Amino acid sequence: MTFTTDTDTRNQIVGAVREFVRREVEPIAQQYDNEDIYPEQLIEPMRDMGLFGITIPPEFGGMGLDYTTFAMIFEELSKGWMSVSGIIGTHHILGHIVASHGTDQQKAKFLPRLASGELRGGLALTEPEAGSDVQNLQTTAVKDGEEYVLNGSKMFITNAEHGNAFAVLTKTDPDAEPRHRGMSCFIIEKPSTGLEVGQHLDKLGYRGLDSCELLFNDCRVDADNLVGAAEGQGFKHVMSGLETGRINVAARAVGVATAAFEAAVRYAQQRETFGEPIASHQAIQLKLADMATKIQAARLLTYDAAAKKDAGQPRIDLEAGMAKLFASEVCGEVTLEAMRIHGGYGYIKDFNVERYYRDAPLMIIGEGTNEIQKLVIARRLLEQYAI
Ligand SMILES: Cc1cc2nc3c(=O)[nH]c(=O)nc-3n(C[C@H](O)[C@H](O)[C@H](O)COP(=O)(O)OP(=O)(O)OC[C@H]3O[C@@H](n4cnc5c(N)ncnc54)[C@H](O)[C@@H]3O)c2cc1C
Repeated sequence: MTFTTDTDTRNQIVGAVREFVRREVEPIAQQYDNEDIYPEQLIEPMRDMGLFGITIPPEFGGMGLDYTTFAMIFEELSKGWMSVSGIIGTHHILGHIVASHGTDQQKAKFLPRLASGELRGGLALTEPEAGSDVQNLQTTAVKDGEEYVLNGSKMFITNAEHGNAFAVLTKTDPDAEPRHRGMSCFIIEKPSTGLEVGQHLDKLGYRGLDSCELLFNDCRVDADNLVGAAEGQGFKHVMSGLETGRINVAARAVGVATAAFEAAVRYAQQRETFGEPIASHQAIQLKLADMATKIQAARLLTYDAAAKKDAGQPRIDLEAGMAKLFASEVCGEVTLEAMRIHGGYGYIKDFNVERYYRDAPLMIIGEGTNEIQKLVIARRLLEQYAI
């Protein structure tokens, strides 16, 4: 399923998001992040703009935008406050899984409610003992009549508290070899018997947004909620969602890095040392040049991965992996440079660069760590260049 968004529509939507960020996100970002406050008042306007249905097909009430526009939207939101992009980040992956792999009945049941934001989604993949090694997950789903019974626990689940629908990856055949053939994905809505939200994690960055444990104790789910009505396909379903998730993370990294650069280039012209603005010192100019060049390269890699997805290329794990790897590393470097340009003030919570610096590492770790991205990239390259 691919969509093409015409340039006027794209500009209009991205412009509306930019204006929303300027008016409603930027004024609260630093305080809400520092105090770990969930931005509840942003949900209604995000619904009104259709942001919960960015890539959901129009016949199910979504906007059916292409991934280039999707990337630009995540970039704009993250320029204001990266946590806001998290409200619709894994929500989008859930929508993608249902739209691409769900049965007709599942599409009709979930997509319109996901598109409107009545359902706010998440992805429950990681476990205490299974992050990079996701095939080691221990959450089981055992068939019992017309239901499955889930037991296990998930870790770091974004939107666990404020979300109410989750794509949950489980093992339906713990003895399967290879292990991923025994994995199945379920859509689980709140409230469900035996589903509980565990500890709210106190994070370095990405604050205001909930990341928690999700606990399944004899949690019963209707067999109709098994994605695609097929056991053993869950790993494949989730991985296809993660490809688009990596475009999202790369775009977030470009957004945060851009915000940090813009703060630095402004500050460099205001702050004076030795009788002149620090922007006059060549050492600072070299930093600004490197920052802007790297950000633009990261942006182009991100748009390239999105464009390949939009063109219907069946697999984009190579391009999305490269974009996520490069953009997140650039974000880490640029946010540190922005802090250095701010001197001591960059270390103080009154300045946004302090937040950008705290947000950057998540892009390096989340959606598959950068070490794992390199393994994915290398595997694909060795396939392409096999002799
Ligand atoms: C704020 C936040 C939000 C998150 N949101 C979600 C969410 O909504 N849903 C979800 O399912 N998960 C979520 N995650 C989990 C995230 O995807 C994992 O933390 C990540 O995949 C890494 O897994 P891990 O923490 O278990 O690290 P580990 O897998 O234990 O890795 C530890 C270190 O070892 C390295 N490593 C591991 N294996 C290899 C290898 N084979 N070769 C080289 N290096 C290796 C890793 O790169 C890393 O540096 C979130 C995490 C955070 C911090």
